[in-house]
Amino acid sequence: MTKINENFLKLQAGYLFPEIGRRKRAFQEANPDADIISMGIGDVTQPLVPAIIEAMKKAVEEMGRGETFKGYDDGGIGYEFLREAIKENDYKARGVDIDIDEIVISDGAKCDTGNMQEIFSLDNVIAVSDPVYPVYVDTNVMSGRTGGPVERGRYEGIVYMPCTEQNNFVPDLPKEKVDLIYLCFPNNPTGGVATKEQLKKWVDYANEHKAIILFDAAYEAFISDPEIPHSIFEIDGAKEVAIEFRSFSKTAGFTGLRCAFTVIPKQLKAYTNDGRAIEVAPIWKRRHCTKFNGVSYVTQAGAAAVYSSEGKEQNQKIIDIYMANARLICETLRKLGFTVYGGLNAPYIWLKTPNGVGSWEFFDILLNKAHVVGTPGAGFGSAGEGFFRLTAFGTPDNVKEALRRFASIV
Ligand SMILES: *Cc1c(COP(=O)(O)O)cnc(C)c1O
Repeated sequence: MTKINENFLKLQAGYLFPEIGRRKRAFQEANPDADIISMGIGDVTQPLVPAIIEAMKKAVEEMGRGETFKGYDDGGIGYEFLREAIKENDYKARGVDIDIDEIVISDGAKCDTGNMQEIFSLDNVIAVSDPVYPVYVDTNVMSGRTGGPVERGRYEGIVYMPCTEQNNFVPDLPKEKVDLIYLCFPNNPTGGVATKEQLKKWVDYANEHKAIILFDAAYEAFISDPEIPHSIFEIDGAKEVAIEFRSFSKTAGFTGLRCAFTVIPKQLKAYTNDGRAIEVAPIWKRRHCTKFNGVSYVTQAGAAAVYSSEGKEQNQKIIDIYMANARLICETLRKLGFTVYGGLNAPYIWLKTPNGVGSWEFFDILLNKAHVVGTPGAGFGSAGEGFFRLTAFGTPDNVKEALRRFASIV
C-alpha cells in the first residue's frame, strides 16, 4: 500500500483563482454578449522587446552550429555572462557589492521562493505577511512545517503579520521569536513598499535573533521613488541575514520564457542543532544542482539582453506603459470616491471596498455591473478582507474601458 504525503491534504483547495474562474464562467454563460475585462491576473500583456528577441534569435543560431552549440549549463547555476550582467547592473550600479558566485540562475522566483524552505530545518518558525503571496505559505504546508488549517484561511504554526492601512502595509516586527521571515517589496498584492528605515528594523531583528529574511524583490523594476531601496542588500547588515529573489517575469515580460535568480551572500549563515554556523549558499547550490539542470542557453541569452542599453531603454518603455495604467487607475478611482493604495511603485492597486462591502461581494458587483474582473483581497489572507486587488498589466485601451465602467457602478 502506497501512502500519500498527508501534508498535501492539509492544503486548502486552491481556492482563489479557480473560484474567480468559476464565477467568471457562470456569468459569461448567462451573459454571452458581455465583454469581460480582466484586471485580475498578475501576468504581463506586452510582447517581448526587440533587443531580447534579437539576442534569442542569435542564440538559436549558435545552438545550430557545432562550434557554438551548448549542452548542459555547467552545474546549472547559470552562465557567467548573465551573472556578470546581474552583478554589474542590478547591484554594483546601486552601490551593492555582490559576487557572481553569490548569484544562482533559475527558471522562476515562484520555484525559488517555494523551494528555499527545503534547506532549512522543519522546526524553524516562519513568519509571513497577511495578505500574502500564497506560494510562501503553501510550500511550508507541503513540507510539514505547519499544522492543519485553522480559522480564516490560516494554518497552525505560522506567524501571520497583518499589513493594514494603520501600518501602511509594512508589517510590524513580530512579538514572538521567528526564524524565517518572508518579505515581498514592492508588494503583491498591496502594491506597498518599504523604506530603508523600515527594512533596517527587519535586518536588525534578524541579526539579533539569528533569523533569515527571504526577500522577494520580483517587482523592484516598478519602483519610481528614488528613496525606496530596490534590494535588501542596500541595507547595512543585510548580507548576514537575507536572501533575495528576483525575476525577469514582470520586469521584462518573461512569464512565458522563465528566468529568475536568487542571491545568497557568502556571509549568510544558518545553524546546526549544536550551534555550528553553516554557510547557506553552498547548501542552496547543492540542492539546486541536484534537482535542476539549468535554464536554457537561449533564454539566458535573452535575459542578458535585458541589460544591454537597447534592452534597458525598450523595457523601460513597457514598464512606463504599465505604470501609466497604474496612475490612471489610481487617479480615476480616487475621483470616483474610492480609497486606493499602491500603484506608485508597483503594478498593483489595493482598493478599499466601498461601505465595508466584503471583498467577494465587491467582486460580484464589479463582475455583474461593470463586467470587470479583479481579485478579492480576502483570497490573499484574512487581513485582505475589505480590499480588492487590481493589476496594471492590462493594455491601455482595456484599462481605460474598465475605468469607464467603474464610473457606471458608483
Ligand atoms: C510574479 C511573482 C513572482 C515571479 O514568479 P516567476 O516564477 O519568476 O514568474 C515572484 N513573486 C511574486 C510575489 C510574484 O507576484
